[in-house]
Amino acid sequence: MFILAIHPFRNLFIIVNFILILFQFGIPCDENELHTAILFCVVCCTHLCVECSEQTHSTRTLTKHKRVPISEKPRENPKCSFHPMHLVEFACLEEECKNSPLMCYICKDYGRHVKHRVCSERTRKREREREEREMLHL
Ligand SMILES: [Zn+2]
Ligand SMILES: [Zn+2]
Ligand SMILES: [Zn+2]
Ligand SMILES: [Zn+2]
Repeated sequence: MFILAIHPFRNLFIIVNFILILFQFGIPCDENELHTAILFCVVCCTHLCVECSEQTHSTRTLTKHKRVPISEKPRENPKCSFHPMHLVEFACLEEECKNSPLMCYICKDYGRHVKHRVCSERTRKREREREEREMLHL
């Protein structure tokens, strides 16, 4: 019984996971939209292709900026698709919202998910990262 009850939630977390991974692919270079970003500068918080990374970080102080492959970019929640000013902080647990479960606090408190059951993205972060590691080791 316990396993049956917990299962739908596990599935949802995996779906949320994939959505978040999708958000991180095909990110354009912040210097030129036509470039595909490969690097992420952790100091400037910019996505850069190799060329622009060199160009924008050519001075002596800027070369010290730590840049990581985009896949290793420190995790940051994507923006809410309904409220681009706000970050996704929650995921809806309702069946009717399973196609677009991600939301910001406005969606949760005033928008399309008012009174829906939600889980906090922030508190789930650790769990998600653990699941991701598990998936990679499979
Ligand atoms: Zn930088
Ligand atoms: Zn570029
Ligand atoms: Zn929103
Ligand atoms: Zn909802």
